[in-house]
Amino acid sequence: MDLPAPVLQAVRMLNDSGFEAYVIGGAVRNRILNNPVHDYDLTTSALPGQVKQVFSRYRTIDTGIRHGTVTVIISRMHLEITTYRTETSYRDHRHPDAVAFTSLLRDDCARRDFTINAMAYHPDEGLIDYFGGYDDIRSRIIRTVNDPRQRFEEDALRILRAVRFASELGFDIEKQTAQALLEQCGDLQYVSKERIIQELGRILTGACAPDALKDFRCVFAVFIGGLTDEEQWQHLLRQYSRCSRNLNVRLALLLNSQKENAERILHDLKYPNEITDAVCNILALSGMPLSSRTDIRKLLSRLKVPFETYLSYRSAADPDISTAEALSLYRRIEEDRDCVSIRGLAVDGNDLREAGLQGKQIGSALQTCLNAVMEDRAENTKDALLKLLKDQNMI
Ligand code: ATP
Ligand code: MG
Repeated sequence: MDLPAPVLQAVRMLNDSGFEAYVIGGAVRNRILNNPVHDYDLTTSALPGQVKQVFSRYRTIDTGIRHGTVTVIISRMHLEITTYRTETSYRDHRHPDAVAFTSLLRDDCARRDFTINAMAYHPDEGLIDYFGGYDDIRSRIIRTVNDPRQRFEEDALRILRAVRFASELGFDIEKQTAQALLEQCGDLQYVSKERIIQELGRILTGACAPDALKDFRCVFAVFIGGLTDEEQWQHLLRQYSRCSRNLNVRLALLLNSQKENAERILHDLKYPNEITDAVCNILALSGMPLSSRTDIRKLLSRLKVPFETYLSYRSAADPDISTAEALSLYRRIEEDRDCVSIRGLAVDGNDLREAGLQGKQIGSALQTCLNAVMEDRAENTKDALLKLLKDQNMI
């Protein structure tokens, strides 16, 4: 495994100062899988103060100094270097009450969540794999390090992480791990909303979500009430296999059967307004016809997400829809720059004010014009639109 130069350099510098240092966790897993590595984490026997001393000529950031993590920047690469540690008693099912540094790599590996995440790598020593992570990668299995009940009990976030790795990597969750996970998913109430939606996003959009999520409906039922029906869940996953891996699309499908609660559910989960608005917009327009150019124009006039996103949702929710036809109508609308918004009209508020309208009358006259243009009842020219309003006795 060839490591990037800054990573090698950091390992060497720690070793030269008499400390152990290894690449650990996700980077080792992803390298074995030949997946891209976004960040390299190092684990070391050096205490945080010693790490800072070793890298005194480099910029360091006290990322989580209390937990033993120092970020070192070498050739613009950010490396998180964490002291070997163990964790003890987790009173709130989420955060360890105490963090203790240790001098043994094995202890540090043992605190990690899954075997596939508990491997260390050293450029000279090669792979250090105390818990069978390599075999589990080969067999495509997610298994907790040590007793799954205890590990999920300690930190309920691991429940979501297990499902997330299954969804992203397409691995199976080992039987006892899966059983413990299902038994303990009520503990997800202890996980912060921020972490839930972070994991949920990756779970729902994972490359293998449709297969990986089959047995885990009750994990989702904890924070999305109303997911009580197993048949509905399998139906949802079939829809997932037909749509893009777009978060808004997948959330809209997830909440399709309880549209009236969607906004509250997303709000309770503390999703950013941008996502809540997009998902609610897709759901609000879920019944719009898509058969004619006028249909699509009217949809576009109210749509707040890209048309392709909406169409991906519709074609998954309703397989009878002719996606190709809708897409070709949309392309023609785009090419011809058809007017689909009040801003695109050949008249504006000032024109209507000059014609004698005021206040709310202006808004409704503009809407009348837009509808007429989208329905091909009037050309989008100033003369034609003013004539239309005259004919309708609006001016
Ligand atoms: P990715 O970066 O793709 O999310 P990762 O495995 O690097 O995957 P991180 O959240 O970056 O995940 O965590 C780095 C490592 O820290 C993990 O590989 C794992 O060894 C350990 N780890 C992270 N979260 C937990 C947890 N909740 N319990 C135990 N170990 C954890
Ligand atoms: Mg990582």
